Amino acid sequence: MALIVQKYGGSSVADAESIKRVAKRIVDTRRAGHDVVVAVSAMGDTTDELLDLAHQVAPISAPRELDMLLSSGERISMALLAMAIHSMGFEARSFTGSQAGMITDATHGAARIVDVTPVRLREALDEGAIVIVAGFQGFNRDTRDVTTLGRGGSDTTAVALAAALDADVCEIYSDVDGIYTADPRVVPKARKLDVVSAEEMLELAANGAKVLYIRAVEYARRHGVMINARSTFSSSQGTFVLGAGMSIPAAVAATLEESAMEEPIVAGVATDLGQAKVTVVGVPDVPGKAAEIFTVVAKSGANVDMIVQNVSAAATGRTDISFTVPKPDASLALRALAAEQSGIGFENLIHDDQIGKLSVVGAGMRTHSGVSATLFEALSTTGVNIEMISTSEIRISVVVRGDDLAEAARVVHTAFGLDGDVEAVVHAGTGR
Ligand code: ADP
Ligand code: ASP
Ligand code: MG
Repeated sequence: MALIVQKYGGSSVADAESIKRVAKRIVDTRRAGHDVVVAVSAMGDTTDELLDLAHQVAPISAPRELDMLLSSGERISMALLAMAIHSMGFEARSFTGSQAGMITDATHGAARIVDVTPVRLREALDEGAIVIVAGFQGFNRDTRDVTTLGRGGSDTTAVALAAALDADVCEIYSDVDGIYTADPRVVPKARKLDVVSAEEMLELAANGAKVLYIRAVEYARRHGVMINARSTFSSSQGTFVLGAGMSIPAAVAATLEESAMEEPIVAGVATDLGQAKVTVVGVPDVPGKAAEIFTVVAKSGANVDMIVQNVSAAATGRTDISFTVPKPDASLALRALAAEQSGIGFENLIHDDQIGKLSVVGAGMRTHSGVSATLFEALSTTGVNIEMISTSEIRISVVVRGDDLAEAARVVHTAFGLDGDVEAVVHAGTGR
């Protein structure tokens, strides 16, 4: 008998029928003799709809109230799911984040889990109940307020529960069969991976692959939790995300083909339309200006990703500095820089939110050269212009026009030999 944590995303519980399907899956796991703890997301696009509603009521809402509002989405699905399980003759008990002991810091909208005290969950398990926990939410001890963990945060709830309860595996269910070599909505020839290293998954998630939330992958790596990403809508074994020292269950390994176990140079391609580019035009090319600019940007709370500085024009002694930030952060950075324009001495600011970021990720890059050449060559054949480039040890990213991103991803995917034989299936969801 094992303890299994399962997380069901919004598309898995989008309506009454889906909730019943998920309930059956949970009951099947229970029937197989396992203890089951479930983290559940809000139904369908509920979180987006609540956010839209908030914006209609007030253009800027108080972070505390926003968390009160958004956390209600997961409460609806947890109670409905428990009811569906009851009606199948099984004992189930739902818990909010605070009842489940999900203790966070006080940062509304992006709270970090600082402790998990699952006393009530243990009691419920000991009494033979299936435990259902509202994902994405926690509680701060000092403010005594409800917090949320950031968009996609139910994944983190699941992983944190798995760590705290010492679960055997954390199964994360969504509308695709697992982790693919690219987003199957963008690259139809994307291939499902049987395994991916936690290190590569972190880079994929950080660069737009929302199939797993980056903080969940980080948490899993830090606490030695094995994630199995899979689909509610099929019986596929999904993808195992392996941290250091982990290996796939022997029964699963036996079903894999030899070739699947080889280490490819490139694990996958990630795409991100969520960034904007800010260009600071006409910056005096003297020491200290970059420090001034990025100190101002950091103080605004904007999270800088890529940076490029042009060669300065000899005639003017001025240069342009461009950087990317998540779209919602761009206005923070622009406002802060504009306020310091005369102090820093730049000429102008340009805001461009029509960019797309494409990243190629693979641990094999450490030992193989030529990955950037293949990437640039593939992009040049489609006439896609590269605007910025950045690299890490196991990743190369480029910024291109947003309209070119999907085509660029397909071409690059083919160039690295990642295309599968069959078209990838997206079972549900709106991709929102
Ligand atoms: P959930 O609502 O269940 O949390 P998400 O919408 O957050 O699900 O994540 C699943 C989606 O992630 C898929 O529908 C797919 O479009 C997207 N995705 C992005 N990159 C990948 C990838 N590499 N592999 C699989 N899915 C991906
Ligand atoms: N419902 C939240 C969201 O849509 C959390 C989650 O689904 O993981 O972001
Ligand atoms: Mg998600």
